[in-house]
Amino acid sequence: MMSGRGKEIYYIAIAGAGASGLAACIEARKHTDCARIVVLEKNDKPAKKLYATGNGRCNLLNKDATFLDYSCAGNYSAREYAESVFERRSPERLRSMFEDIGIELVEEEGGRLYPASFQASSVVKALNQAAFSEINGKSPVLINNFELVSVRVIMGGIFELESADGRVVHACRLILAGGGKAGIQYGSDGRCLKIAESLGHSVIKPIPALVGINCDVDESLAGTRARALARLYRRRDAAELPIAQSPGEVQFQKGYISGICVMDISGKCRFEEGSSYSLSLDFMPDLHEAELELKLEDRFKKFGSFFLDALLPAKLATMLESRSDGDAEKLARLIKDLRYEVKGTLGWPDAQLTSGGVALNEIKIATMESLKVKDLYFAGEMLDMDGPCGGYNLSWAFATGSIAGECAAMSLRSTREYKG
Ligand SMILES: Cc1cc2nc3c(=O)[nH]c(=O)nc-3n(C[C@H](O)[C@H](O)[C@H](O)COP(=O)(O)OP(=O)(O)OC[C@H]3O[C@@H](n4cnc5c(N)ncnc54)[C@H](O)[C@@H]3O)c2cc1C
Repeated sequence: MMSGRGKEIYYIAIAGAGASGLAACIEARKHTDCARIVVLEKNDKPAKKLYATGNGRCNLLNKDATFLDYSCAGNYSAREYAESVFERRSPERLRSMFEDIGIELVEEEGGRLYPASFQASSVVKALNQAAFSEINGKSPVLINNFELVSVRVIMGGIFELESADGRVVHACRLILAGGGKAGIQYGSDGRCLKIAESLGHSVIKPIPALVGINCDVDESLAGTRARALARLYRRRDAAELPIAQSPGEVQFQKGYISGICVMDISGKCRFEEGSSYSLSLDFMPDLHEAELELKLEDRFKKFGSFFLDALLPAKLATMLESRSDGDAEKLARLIKDLRYEVKGTLGWPDAQLTSGGVALNEIKIATMESLKVKDLYFAGEMLDMDGPCGGYNLSWAFATGSIAGECAAMSLRSTREYKG
């Protein structure tokens, strides 16, 4: 089928050649004429962000991922959406999807799966090859340096897609896979969220997640690492409640605290009117405060001034001791609840995830199709779903991309335009 101006109308256009867009392309080409799929990428090549994932090693999946690991910022439960996605694309199925394209996986602590090469570049190569290689002289079309700026639905329900430099592409189906705003330097800058809004979708305010939390860190601690249970408290109308917690290693930096456990709870810092947050670090979560106090007194009797040094990193021990004025009860309280007022978080360049995004209650989650605009699909980080560090967010991107690609392609089969 050709458009009025003699240009081809693609069956499927995929906006964004990141993790979810490439997964969508790989799946869509299995079910339709691949030469009629077009992938539009803003950068000069696909998947720039993927090279940076997992510190260059790409923690691409988590073998234990379930709906319980995910949360949403919108006022609905993550459960029904995440459960539906992982029922269709279980971790085992995602794993075999990668094995099918030549990526052997190895497991590290916490179910984290990495390519056997431990190089993100091998994942990018495999995804590119699977998405764009020729079969019988045909392949999907990749257009790099195409920054999508607007989408219009024109006559016959065709999508008209325009780039920043005025090029126009037409397609029967559109999969928006342009990411959120995290790691903004790699390409995703929230533009596709604006496009979703322009098409009538509600977008939950995007905020940086999986990122360090800004607070007044004692200068002496900069560079110190310690094991702790990190807890986030929200204060609203004079009531204070713990809203998230995660155990792990915290890292004190100048002006902020990071470490995976702190990053995992950072996306809950939504500064809405009347709410403020504090970060509590518990360095001995296995002991009650009273038990700890007795233990400290006992150790002081036995070991004198050395009593705290073997329990905590030296700089942290010194800081806590100096704040407690030699009072064991005060020291135990500080060790159990070192409190920092949250001033905000680091910004988009440091964030690994976007919290918020396209509201899930406006999406048919079984197919990833919009409930507002026919033949429009969504995938990946654009959607309002957050997972913790550990391969959960790439799992979501690959799973939703693959479902969107399959469902967009399958939906074409019953249409007049479809020629195989
Ligand atoms: C430094 C870093 C490390 C991370 N490490 C991990 C990890 O180890 N494991 C894990 O599970 N997750 C990790 N993440 C998170 C994970 O990378 C993302 O959740 C995932 O890449 C999201 O996939 P996506 O396809 O939705 O979006 P993206 O990967 O952001 O891809 C979106 C694509 O769309 C393109 N695009 C954007 N706007 C437009 C437009 N207007 N027109 C055309 N193209 C456009 C972008 O250039 C990009 O190529 C990490 C993130 C960062 C920043």
